[in-house]
Amino acid sequence: MSAAETQQCIFCKIISGEIPSFKVYEDDKCVAVLDINPATKGHLLLMPKQHYAYLAEMPEELVAHLGQVSKWLAHSAIKLFSATGISIFSAIGAVAGQNAPHAIIHIIPRYEGDAADLMLKRTKVAAESLSKLKEALAQSLKKELGYTESKPQKEEEAQKQEKVEKPKEETEAKPDLDSITALLSGGEGDG
Ligand code: ZN
Repeated sequence: MSAAETQQCIFCKIISGEIPSFKVYEDDKCVAVLDINPATKGHLLLMPKQHYAYLAEMPEELVAHLGQVSKWLAHSAIKLFSATGISIFSAIGAVAGQNAPHAIIHIIPRYEGDAADLMLKRTKVAAESLSKLKEALAQSLKKELGYTESKPQKEEEAQKQEKVEKPKEETEAKPDLDSITALLSGGEGDG
């Protein structure tokens, strides 16, 4: 990221308020606005405040935070619009359909028979190829992250563990979903 890139980025201008937008959510790390050319009703763009060219460039904590906020926004859209599903994705690279210079997570409420065409055409691959791919990926993950495949627990053991494990306390403050819903339904933004 260069300073020049940030200065010219239209989404940085939306985030700073230089360009007006229909903002529905904001915290210290990210902003969500209504897409002005929505794929469906309530299509949201969730963006980090700091300029990153794409999701994979962001620090892991920020990716995790955007994941959390995506969930809140999705919940709110389902409640408000009676959406029956949500598509959440981030395009990384032009070949994936990215046409914005700024990292964006699309949150697209889905409705029966809507016009958003995100169905993937699938292909058939031999099991042998999948097996080779799996090996290569496992090796790569091990090398890059120190990740090793965990062995599945026996059912009994898993059940025992489930009983003694206390539910994790939710320490992170959640925003008031109703207030997000109200903002979404207002559709006025603050820009
Ligand atoms: Zn930007």
